[in-house]
Amino acid sequence: MRTPLMAGNWKMHHGPAAAAGLTAAIGAAANSHPGVDVALFVPFVSLSAAVEAAEGRLRVGAQNAHEHQSGAFTGEVSCAMLTEVCPLVLLGHSERRHLYGESSALVGRKVSTALESGLEVVLCVGETLDERESGSTLEIISDQLAAGLEPVGREQISRITIAYEPVWAIGTGRNATPQQAGEACRAVRDWLRKRFGDAADSLRVLYGGSVSPANWAEIAAEPDVDGALVGGASLEAESFNRLIEISAAC
Ligand code: PEP
Repeated sequence: MRTPLMAGNWKMHHGPAAAAGLTAAIGAAANSHPGVDVALFVPFVSLSAAVEAAEGRLRVGAQNAHEHQSGAFTGEVSCAMLTEVCPLVLLGHSERRHLYGESSALVGRKVSTALESGLEVVLCVGETLDERESGSTLEIISDQLAAGLEPVGREQISRITIAYEPVWAIGTGRNATPQQAGEACRAVRDWLRKRFGDAADSLRVLYGGSVSPANWAEIAAEPDVDGALVGGASLEAESFNRLIEISAAC
C-alpha cells in the first residue's frame, strides 16, 4: 500500500514572509491527515523560512539544483548546499526542460548528483501536445525515464518519486482525463518494474497538470496515481488543503 503524496510546486511565487505563513497553514492540514504525505517545493530564497515554519509531517524541497557540487556557476545552487537546508529536490520539471533547455541527459546527471548527496528526488516526465497527438506519449515518457534514471541503482531507487505531467496540462486549466492520467501513470510503473523489479510496486507515481479540488477526486481514484504535483492550486492554503482532504478520503 502506497501512501499518497500531495506536493505543491510554488514556482516563482512566495518570498520568505509569504512562504512562512502559507507553510504553517498547509502544515496544520498535513498534521490532521496522517494518511497523506505532503511536500512543498518552494523558491530557493524561501527554503529556510518554509523549513522553519514546517512543523510535523510537512516536508520542504527545492525546485531545481545544479549538476555539479560547487564551482564557477554564477546564480546556481548545488545539491550539497541544499542538503544543509532541506531533504527533497524537484528535477526535470517541464518548465526547466522547455524554458531553460534542460535535456533529459542533463536531468539524469542532476538526479545522480542529488542521490549521491543524500537528497530525495521527484523526477518529472511528460509529453507535449504535439507528441500526444502524434501517438508518441508512451515513447516520450520511456525515453525521459531511461535518461533521467540512467545513473540510478537499485539501492537508490526508493528515494525517487516520478511525477507524470503532460506539458499541455500544466498551468492551462486543461487537466488530463482520469483515464489518460491513469494510463500514463501505469505505463510509468510498468517501465519502473522492467528496470527495477518489484521495487516499482512501492514507488510513488504522481499526476500533475491543472489539478484542482473540482477534478482531483476522480483522478486520485485511478489505481496507479499515488498523489499529485500541484502548481496553481498549491499557492493558497484553502485549495491545497482541500486537495489534501480529498486524498485522505480516497
Ligand atoms: C506544475 O507546476 O507542476 C503544475 C502541475 O502546475 P499546475 O497545477 O498549475 O498545472
